[in-house]
Amino acid sequence: MATMIIEGERVGAVSGQTYEVKNPATGEVVEEVPNGGADDVDRAARGAAKAQQAWARLAPAERARILHKAADHMLAQVEEIAPILTAEQGKTILESRIEARRFGENIAWFADLADKIHGEYVSLPDTTTYGLVLRKPIGVTGAIVPWNFPLTLAANKVAPSIAAGNAVVLKPSSTTPLATLRCIEALIEGGLPEGVINVVLGPGTGEAIVTHPLIRKVALTGSTPTGKKVMAAAAPYLKKVVLELGGSDPCIVLDDADVDEAARAISVGRFFNCGQACLAIKRLYVQEGVFDGLLERLVERARRLKPGDGMNRDTRMGPMHTPGQRAEVEAQVQDALDRGARIVFGGGRPQGAEYEHGNFINPTIMVDVPDGSRMATEEVFGPALPVMRIKDLDEGLARANNSVFGLGSSIWTSSMKAAHRAVQELEAGYTWVNALQIAHDELPFGGTKESGFGKEHGLEAFHQYTEQKSVVYGLV
Ligand code: NAD
Repeated sequence: MATMIIEGERVGAVSGQTYEVKNPATGEVVEEVPNGGADDVDRAARGAAKAQQAWARLAPAERARILHKAADHMLAQVEEIAPILTAEQGKTILESRIEARRFGENIAWFADLADKIHGEYVSLPDTTTYGLVLRKPIGVTGAIVPWNFPLTLAANKVAPSIAAGNAVVLKPSSTTPLATLRCIEALIEGGLPEGVINVVLGPGTGEAIVTHPLIRKVALTGSTPTGKKVMAAAAPYLKKVVLELGGSDPCIVLDDADVDEAARAISVGRFFNCGQACLAIKRLYVQEGVFDGLLERLVERARRLKPGDGMNRDTRMGPMHTPGQRAEVEAQVQDALDRGARIVFGGGRPQGAEYEHGNFINPTIMVDVPDGSRMATEEVFGPALPVMRIKDLDEGLARANNSVFGLGSSIWTSSMKAAHRAVQELEAGYTWVNALQIAHDELPFGGTKESGFGKEHGLEAFHQYTEQKSVVYGLV
């Protein structure tokens, strides 16, 4: 049985309760894990507060050295960690390897910043005084993570937090705790002091993190409804929150685009991780002149995406994570069909013995999807792509922005003028121009509108795990 990591100990839940983590491809039990609650979070928060004091007192360069060594140790174990991620999450082993590597790389990227916290000198009107602006760690921070990219999204929160001198109480999604536990163990084996990262498990631990008074900041990646609940629950404590929430990223393709390159990027952008990604092309707006050509190329690419168990060599797309997630996407597709949409490729579930026990679904491409349908207005968290026809850029921008979400966005065009307008006018935290829609460590990442606020990645994320303090020095 797996255990939680609290205050340097490997423990079960105070309540003694457990639950099972299941493999989305086979339905088999992967492992039993503790079902923690508020008591466990309380112990983890107290343990983190204790460990944080010593961690923050270390010379920043020493913190950087420890984090690099720990990250290297973790990176040496990618081959052992990746199959665990595939077993609990469903993604292909290739996708799991990429993600496990990203975990260690993210820790290393922020480790480089640990000794680069800069403050300011400020002159004051009275020349016998001067001001300083310091940056200090916040203390204990909470990290609440979803199941779609368990490692990447944990690292996005943990890496800047500990590099800045904080300690963390981390809650993986209940259905994907195992690879995360293995990554944190690897960091500790590699020299990260016990107590700096605590891991609690179980659905009830999220709310307990948000309302624990010792945890001064909470970073959540999750759905928009969860983000609203977390913000409301954090309000009585005046707690800082970072909310990375749902998205429905539009992509505009104009007649002057490189259609081959666009098709390649859109296919990855929609079907990577079986479509279960926040940054994913979820609404495609294509100008009339290239509509048929692009659609043909997209269908050709979707044809190669063989669904299957992520551990099989020929699998190109794993299963949906849970039966509930699959049912949700199927209902969204059905709603579009009821409103007059057509499936041009895929639809339904793959048939055959190998698919009997898993949450498999076919990649699906649709046309004539009305703007009022669920596929156009909600987040579609699975491998279904609505392709909409537009007359020109004006129509594309208006329809792209007609959404409550504002996470990612992209445009394919060879016109500088069109690209410039899209960059200025698309309402999103990220715009890709003729580029694969992937997030970079160097660029601040986060949404606008109901996709949330606050940044992960980049210097911005690092700074957001510090608090500024003003100091006045009198020269008497
Ligand atoms: P979810 O909102 O159901 O859960 C996310 C996490 O929050 C889980 O660990 C869950 O246990 C916890 N949680 C749930 N209710 C809570 C509460 N009231 N208080 C505290 N914690 C609570 O999301 P999910 O289904 O696990 O993940 C899919 C969602 O995440 C999608 O909407 C997706 O777009 C979003 N997401 C966003 C980003 C981003 O960076 N913007 C990245 C990946 C996924």
